[in-house]
Amino acid sequence: MSDFLTSDKLPGLVQAAYIIAAVLFIAALAGLSRHETAKRGNLAGMVGMGLALVATLLLAARRAELPDPLDHWRGLGSTLGVIVVAMLIGAAIGAWRARTVQMTGMPELVAILHSFVGLAAVLVGINSFLDPEAPTIGSLGTIHEVEVFIGVFIGAVTFTGSIVANLKLSAKMKSTPLALPGRHLLNLAIIVLSVALLVWFMNDHDHGIVPLLLMTALALALGFHLVAAIGGGDMPVVVSMLNSYSGWAAAAAGFLLDNDLLIITGSLVGSSGAILSYIMCKAMNRSFISVIAGGFGSDGAVSGEARDYGEHREIQAAEAAELLADATSVVITPGYGMAVAQAQYPVAELTARLRARGVDVRFGIHPVAGRLPGHMNVLLAEARVPYDIVLEMDEINADFASTDVVLVIGANDTVNPAALDEPGSPIAGMPVLEVWHARDVIVFKRSMATGYAGVQNPLFFKENSRMLFGDAKDRVEDIVRALPS
Ligand code: NDP
Repeated sequence: MSDFLTSDKLPGLVQAAYIIAAVLFIAALAGLSRHETAKRGNLAGMVGMGLALVATLLLAARRAELPDPLDHWRGLGSTLGVIVVAMLIGAAIGAWRARTVQMTGMPELVAILHSFVGLAAVLVGINSFLDPEAPTIGSLGTIHEVEVFIGVFIGAVTFTGSIVANLKLSAKMKSTPLALPGRHLLNLAIIVLSVALLVWFMNDHDHGIVPLLLMTALALALGFHLVAAIGGGDMPVVVSMLNSYSGWAAAAAGFLLDNDLLIITGSLVGSSGAILSYIMCKAMNRSFISVIAGGFGSDGAVSGEARDYGEHREIQAAEAAELLADATSVVITPGYGMAVAQAQYPVAELTARLRARGVDVRFGIHPVAGRLPGHMNVLLAEARVPYDIVLEMDEINADFASTDVVLVIGANDTVNPAALDEPGSPIAGMPVLEVWHARDVIVFKRSMATGYAGVQNPLFFKENSRMLFGDAKDRVEDIVRALPS
């Protein structure tokens, strides 16, 4: 074993393993883009990561320069011992969280994981700067310093930005935007100051740690402020944007650690996150630049006026069952509440029962329904709803006018007509599922409370809408029971 570790072949084998792992990561992304291949994609990612870990451990064992690696495994204080213990602790925490997290808790979990990547990039950057063996002179020294500075900057912005995203997604912080006076100037000032600190950092080798730490503090503040200034409705873009930042932070750490696979993986995450952010922006009719610049170009105003939309009307499960039994076409538009209630299973059963009666049942999915991209598609696939009746918003919006009954199951912002009718609304301009064009609309929710963006929904007060109050799972089960056989 020790011969193998010290042999000249090992670095080449590690590089080969890294290339195979990189190809597996690309296969994972390709697989995850479709339901049918998602499991295979996950498997490819896991095998790639396992290979990458083994190859990196072998490299670490070689670098430890001890002939017998078993000495390392025995000694906790040695490099390998520390790595293995850290991996075991991390794997145990990861396995426990993965087993216990609810589907509704995934977005905040993802956000906090992004923050770890950001923190790691900050620590790697500072550590690399303090490394006595790091290059300090010539073009290599310049490249290294720029890598350190940019890596720490992106990492710090990602760290605090992701913590704010976690707090907003878990409702521990208000989803309304923080609108400080002159907030865009504040962001600009931080960026200008950071550039000035970079100049200081590059020119003062003896005290470089001072501008580096000052910039870290500024970048931490910038990350906090950028995400705090984003309103609830724009959070999907922020989540995918932080995903992208965490990728770039990992790539920066890869340059500092001289690890090609980390550079490739970081770039894959960074670019796929950027593409997803762009798709989200298009779906929500938002400017990409405006969102990544902390809502730049919007005045941050939220129409706070509580409008009087009139009275809402209610319906009971038995009456809803009758309406459905007599309908020829039904569209179901699920939202975050379906995830909370875990109502996808009775919804799938209701769908099957209605289809067995000859009713044309389809689903309309808004691109930002729920709290994760593809959230509703995952839930419906889990409950084995056939893919071919699950349509995107653009595919179904024109059909509502000829639909008998729409069941809005735990959706709110994504079916809110205020997005189209009220220019002052925080969700103004966002395309929505235009369910109100249907003959009858039944809204499943527990109260008249607002959705994630914090705005009242005039849909609930329309002539053809009726509220079916209670937990969505219970109410759908009531309807299934009440359906005539
Ligand atoms: P919303 O978050 O707007 O509304 C969900 C509704 O579900 C609430 O009004 C709530 O009303 C109801 N609800 C909650 N629990 C239950 C339950 N057990 N039974 C029945 N109803 C329930 O949902 P949408 O999916 O329409 O919109 C998603 C929002 O989340 C958008 O604003 C989007 O921008 C944002 N977002 C989306 C992300 C994504 O990637 N998809 C990421 C981050 C944010 P009540 O309390 O009265 O029951």
